[in-house]
Amino acid sequence: MQEAARQSGRTANEIRLIAISKYMPTDYVLAAMSAGQHCFGENTVQEALSKQDLIDNPDNEWHFVGHLQSNKAKMIAGNFDWLHTLDSLRLASRLSENAINAAQTLDVLLQVNIADDPDKFGLPASAVPRFIDDILDAGLAGIRLRGLMTIGQRDATPDERRADFSALRELRDACMARFELPRFSELSMGMSGDFEAAISEGATMIRVGSALFGPRPAPNPASSDN
Ligand SMILES: *Cc1c(COP(=O)(O)O)cnc(C)c1O
Repeated sequence: MQEAARQSGRTANEIRLIAISKYMPTDYVLAAMSAGQHCFGENTVQEALSKQDLIDNPDNEWHFVGHLQSNKAKMIAGNFDWLHTLDSLRLASRLSENAINAAQTLDVLLQVNIADDPDKFGLPASAVPRFIDDILDAGLAGIRLRGLMTIGQRDATPDERRADFSALRELRDACMARFELPRFSELSMGMSGDFEAAISEGATMIRVGSALFGPRPAPNPASSDN
């Protein structure tokens, strides 16, 4: 991270490292915590809650990075600080309602399908301004729009990936110029295989799993609750 940041004239402390601990045992999370890591990401509610039960450290910051159906929205407030995968108005309004009930303001990122990959969730880039308009019109006090998130295409070349990251940054800049959203500054992009490129294109959050924890075991199908 330091090297990638330095090469693009940035510093690593402006980039949040989110350790993606999905499918890894709780011991791995505890080991990362002893090494000073406090930001963790999970992609199913159930797995995150079972780890949080064993850990219970108020200094930890939990990020939800999985796809979420709106009927699971009630599990987010009170259990996560950030959600990276907002992609529908219905989900936004449920998240907000539940966050208000939990006396929380949830930080959210809009997931963008920046390369229009038919296999990926997320809003097409062209739909993002209208989506933000709709959210602002709905006056959802329980959520705070903080920026954009994308997942790199699996088979993209390094150049294509970089172009996607750059397009996400430009989209964020356009949104910041168009809307009164001073805190809409975050860019969650880059994983184990491409975080350096993401950092050079302006990532403020990288989501790294296997490069930190080693290869993941296969997911347990019974635990995929969202
Ligand atoms: C699993 C996952 C990651 C981490 O992937 P690695 O390649 O292991 O770093 C990042 N983001 C999301 C949304 C994920 O589901």
